[in-house]
Amino acid sequence: MTERIFNFNPGPAALPSPVLEEIQSELMNFKGTGMSILEISHRSGAFEAVLNDAVARIKRLLNLSDAYHVIFLQGGASTQFFMVPMNLLKPGLSADYVNTGTWSTKAIKEARLLSQNIHVVASSEDRNFCYIPKNIQFTSGSVYVHLTSNNTIKGTQWAEFPDTGGIPLVADMSSDILSRPLDLSPFGLVYAGAQKNLGPAGVTLVIIRQDLLDRCRVDLPSMLNYQTHVAKNSLYNTPPVFGIYVVQLVLKWLEETVGGLEAMGRLNDQKAGLLYDLLGGEDFYRPTADKDSRSMMNVTFRLPTADLEKEFVAAAQKQGLGGLKGHRSVGGCRASIYNAVPLEAVETLVSFMKEFVRTHG
Ligand code: PMP
Repeated sequence: MTERIFNFNPGPAALPSPVLEEIQSELMNFKGTGMSILEISHRSGAFEAVLNDAVARIKRLLNLSDAYHVIFLQGGASTQFFMVPMNLLKPGLSADYVNTGTWSTKAIKEARLLSQNIHVVASSEDRNFCYIPKNIQFTSGSVYVHLTSNNTIKGTQWAEFPDTGGIPLVADMSSDILSRPLDLSPFGLVYAGAQKNLGPAGVTLVIIRQDLLDRCRVDLPSMLNYQTHVAKNSLYNTPPVFGIYVVQLVLKWLEETVGGLEAMGRLNDQKAGLLYDLLGGEDFYRPTADKDSRSMMNVTFRLPTADLEKEFVAAAQKQGLGGLKGHRSVGGCRASIYNAVPLEAVETLVSFMKEFVRTHG
């Protein structure tokens, strides 16, 4: 390839072109420091301005009150699978989990290593996780209810979050954070690996509310303790400087170029709508998720045979449409259409898909 392709990778995923260009333009000399951002101290004023701007933008985009703290950690979303129960479940306390796919299953496995009181209150495993459970009964006295807001592999997403009767929600939002307007008030903690909607791999966003922070265990290793990172504004140790910088640029793009979450949500609806309209109109393509549970971020579908799927992915790649293979655990095809994937990419994909049915259907 001599030119950039349309990138439908599930993560790490597409970044906005203006962000990549800005990184390139200031790579050799970051803001007059005479050094690259890759070389400067995390304690420098130049970096602290980046970090504080990123935090302020997240708070603005999500309308967060001062009760919420925004921190950047390492170890991926997978580290949050155990940090959440490690911090929030003092001995004897319990938590509810909803199992909607591969990532929820992993979160439950990790939580069970740390606590005997993990209740799986709902699961869609009976139909291979093709839907989001409804009418869930939560356990009174649970410290939190954990869910995965968007299921990257199974292609499902919570359209609305359940009423937990006041139990704080804890959500893995790795694959749909900041993709639509969101009222965070029912959430006590949200985490997201950055490499889908926020930036590069290597940095994880955590948003935690003061009342949950107050209830965290203190007898934990410093690095695994949320209180450490909140108290030190993510500067307890050397944070992922470059990753946080790219996140800050992506947030700036989201606020200033896209126009915020309302505009982002409309664009994402439009993109997903184009694909689901096509999937609904052709017998050839078979969406894998129930209609009311479909993800606006990861559109998963099958073709009549595995051989056709292989041919589809290869032919698309040849035309500059990359990353359409489904996750190795489920097969099929998947178009990940995160924030940075432009409408034009989806329009080009839809044209390609129509042509593929004409020649192979
Ligand atoms: N949760 C979700 C919803 C994901 O999609 C992923 C990665 N694909 C993870 C967790 C794991 O993230 P990480 O690789 O950052 O640990």
